[in-house]
Amino acid sequence: MDTERFINIRRQLHQIPEPGFEEFKTQQFILDFISGLPQERLNIQTWKTGVLVRVAGLNPRKTIGYRTDMDGLPIFEETSCDFASVHNGYMHACGHDLHMSIAIGLLDYFVKHPVDDHLLFIFQPAEEGPGGALPLMQCKEFQTVKPDMMLALHIAPEYPVGTVAVKKGLLFANTSELFIDLKGKGGHAAYPHLSNDMVIAASHLVTQLQSIVSRNIDPLDSAVLTVGKITGGTKQNIIAETARLEGTIRTLSSASMVKVKSRIEALVKGIEASFECEAAIDYGANYYQVFNDEELTDEFISFLKTEKPAEFYHCREAMTGEDFGYFLKDIPGFMFWLGVDCDFGLHHSRIEPKEEAIPVALRTLSAYIEWKATSQ
Ligand SMILES: [Zn+2]
Ligand SMILES: [Zn+2]
Repeated sequence: MDTERFINIRRQLHQIPEPGFEEFKTQQFILDFISGLPQERLNIQTWKTGVLVRVAGLNPRKTIGYRTDMDGLPIFEETSCDFASVHNGYMHACGHDLHMSIAIGLLDYFVKHPVDDHLLFIFQPAEEGPGGALPLMQCKEFQTVKPDMMLALHIAPEYPVGTVAVKKGLLFANTSELFIDLKGKGGHAAYPHLSNDMVIAASHLVTQLQSIVSRNIDPLDSAVLTVGKITGGTKQNIIAETARLEGTIRTLSSASMVKVKSRIEALVKGIEASFECEAAIDYGANYYQVFNDEELTDEFISFLKTEKPAEFYHCREAMTGEDFGYFLKDIPGFMFWLGVDCDFGLHHSRIEPKEEAIPVALRTLSAYIEWKATSQ
C-alpha cells in the first residue's frame, strides 16, 4: 500500500476542518477521490454531508461496515504543522482527518483487492455534535445497504505508535449535555422581598445537584455530573431575574443516565417551588454508550495476538462519549483506540498525532477485514 499517499490525504483534509453537517468541502474531497477509483464494484450514495460507499463482494454472505467521522472543532489551531487549518477558528483536533484518511486508504485497497463479502464505508458527519450517527442510521440510504457488523477506530494520544488498544464490553460512557434556565423576578438589590433572586436559586441548585452522584447512584456504577458554567444577572446592584447552568452528565450504564436525569428533574421542580421561579431543562446532545460486542472483540484480540499487525494493549473504559455507540446498539461490532503518541490530548489546540499511525491502522484493518470477509 502506498501509505505516503494517505498521509498526504490526511494533510489535505487537516487544512479544511468544518463544523458538523457543514462538511461540504470534505464531502467533495471524498467524492472526488472515489470518482478516481474503478467504478464497477461501487455503489455510492450521499446523505446530507456524509457519504456511503459499498464495495460489492465477489461472493457476498454479509456486509462489513467501517465508519469514520468527518467533522472538525471550533478551536484555533496552535500547532507547528506546515499544513495547518486554513479555516480560521476551526481545527481537526480530534483526529477525524486521520480517521478519514484511513477509511479512504481501506476503500482504495479493497476496490483493488475485492473480498467475498460486501464492504460498506461510512463517512459520517457531525460526530462532535449534534450527532450524525443516529439520523444517518435512520435514513433510507443506510437502510438499503445496512451492514451485519460495524468497525471503527479513534486515535489515542496516550498510546505509542504501533499499538492498538481495545476491550470487550463497555468502552465509552453514556453522555448528555445539560442546560438549565431559571427565570424569576428581577428588582432593586435593596428590595429583595419584591423579587425572586435567580442567583440564590441557581446556587442552591448547583449544590443540590452534587447529591445525585453521591446519594442516588450505585458507587460501583460510576457517574459524573459537572456544571462547567453559570451565568446570571446583569449588574451588582440588581437582583438577577435569570440564571443559566451549563454542564455535562456521564454514566457507565444507560440505567444510571435515566436515574440521573429523573433526579435532576425532581430537584429542579423543588427549586421552582421553593424559589417561586420557572425552570427549563435542555439535555442538548446525548450519546449512547459504546459497547463492544464480546465475541467479535475477543476474536479481534486473538487476531492481533496471532498476526501481530500491531501491538495489542488492553485498555479500561473511559468517560468520553462517541456517537458510534448508536451503531453498536443495533449492529454487533467494536471500536478500538489507535496509538498516535502525542503530548497534547484530544480537543487540544496543539495536538499533533503521529502520522506513522496511519500505516499501522491500514495494515491492521486491511488484514483483519480481508480475513473476516473471506474466511468465514
Ligand atoms: Zn472529539
Ligand atoms: Zn473524535
